[in-house]
Amino acid sequence: MEERRKIILKRRPEKIIVGGIIVLVFAVYFFELLLILPKIYGPGFSSSHKIAHVVAGTWILFNALISMWKFIVVDPGSGSVVLPSILKEGWRFCYQCEANYPPRSYHCFSCDQCVLVRDHHCVIGANCVGYKTRRYFLHMNIYLWIALLYANILNMDFVFELYHTINSQSLLTMFMPMLAWMFGIAKGETFLMAMFTSLCVVSFLYATAILLFHMRNTLKGRTTPEVMKKLGQMYNLGIVNNLREAFGINWPIAWISPLIPSPLPGDGITFKEKEFVEQNEKSM
Ligand SMILES: [Zn+2]
Ligand SMILES: [Zn+2]
Repeated sequence: MEERRKIILKRRPEKIIVGGIIVLVFAVYFFELLLILPKIYGPGFSSSHKIAHVVAGTWILFNALISMWKFIVVDPGSGSVVLPSILKEGWRFCYQCEANYPPRSYHCFSCDQCVLVRDHHCVIGANCVGYKTRRYFLHMNIYLWIALLYANILNMDFVFELYHTINSQSLLTMFMPMLAWMFGIAKGETFLMAMFTSLCVVSFLYATAILLFHMRNTLKGRTTPEVMKKLGQMYNLGIVNNLREAFGINWPIAWISPLIPSPLPGDGITFKEKEFVEQNEKSM
């Protein structure tokens, strides 16, 4: 059962980072819509290709923002779960929460609670990636990655035009557009274009690395601390079961949109282990 967090974005730095990311997402969207698309297809909406790009771009923007919103508001872990008063095998005691917590859970000092199957605290959404938020974190990653890939493809013609001759001036414009603008090398619109195209390239490389790392862990059914400490091999139930654990029971379609309902198969407290699943599959 998915629950909302009682307090979201309670600290000022969290508000600034999340607000800044949303502003950047909209800035890239309007940059593509108002500067790049008219350069490729001319002004107005006479070209059907341009209309198709606007529809596709808006759909990606909508999904990226909804994923981000879901990641910010959904409670990542323990929420209203009543943890037992006796210390079970493999469980530990949290001195901050004054409660027992199950294996794979950790206390998060930013969220101020123990989070079930805690991966890490993500500053972009100011929430923990835990048992109930992994899906939305992955949605957010996937849609931001698609958005940046799309923007870079649209920007390609301009990037080649701007940087077709590699010299000190074009390199300065590419890597330090602000400095190029201050020295008068890149003027007005060129500076703006260089700023956004560089931002799209750098963000895309960063988003690719993050997405590959977390998708690999998801397919292996493990969290970041487990990967780092070389633990949790027994939670790897095979790709299909691991995707079900992350995206819920409707995973074959749920990965498409964060709005598709898909309850999680477990509770984040007790776990099936590899040998158990393999034995069950053999006996079926
Ligand atoms: Zn705790
Ligand atoms: Zn946290």
